[in-house]
Amino acid sequence: MKPEKRIALVAHDNKKKDLLEWVRYNRVLLAEHQLFATGTTGMLIEEELGIPVVKLQSGPLGGDQQIGAKISEGLIDFLIFFWDPLEPHPHDPDVKALLRISVVWNTPVACNRSSADFMISSPLMSQQYEPKLPDYEAYLDRLEQTVS
Ligand code: PGA
Repeated sequence: MKPEKRIALVAHDNKKKDLLEWVRYNRVLLAEHQLFATGTTGMLIEEELGIPVVKLQSGPLGGDQQIGAKISEGLIDFLIFFWDPLEPHPHDPDVKALLRISVVWNTPVACNRSSADFMISSPLMSQQYEPKLPDYEAYLDRLEQTVS
């Protein structure tokens, strides 16, 4: 992970106001990094900060899955995901999948403002950092034995 981080941001509708306040407060820091977001979240962040955001599909249309795919390809360094704990969503399986794949790849995730505050103020933000990847060799070997 380089000093310039690739940060993915997602907020459910009831949490968008919270995330926008957070990005406004942290705009100087965030401008030093590359930002990715689900469609609506990305559009709102661009409007708020006036800096470019790579906008993927809207969450319910596959945006969460696109972020998950990028994480598994090593293209996202950390995730700020303000999900709504009080309402069901049509794409709840995608939300679970995104949280799961972040753990699979040992990707830092902040699901609320305090975690996001701790993460963005970490000294590691401005340093090179190599997250230790879990060792999946044994798992892959087992898979290979099953198919051969
Ligand atoms: P949105 O998607 O940014 O397009 O609203 C977020 C989500 O609901 O996962």
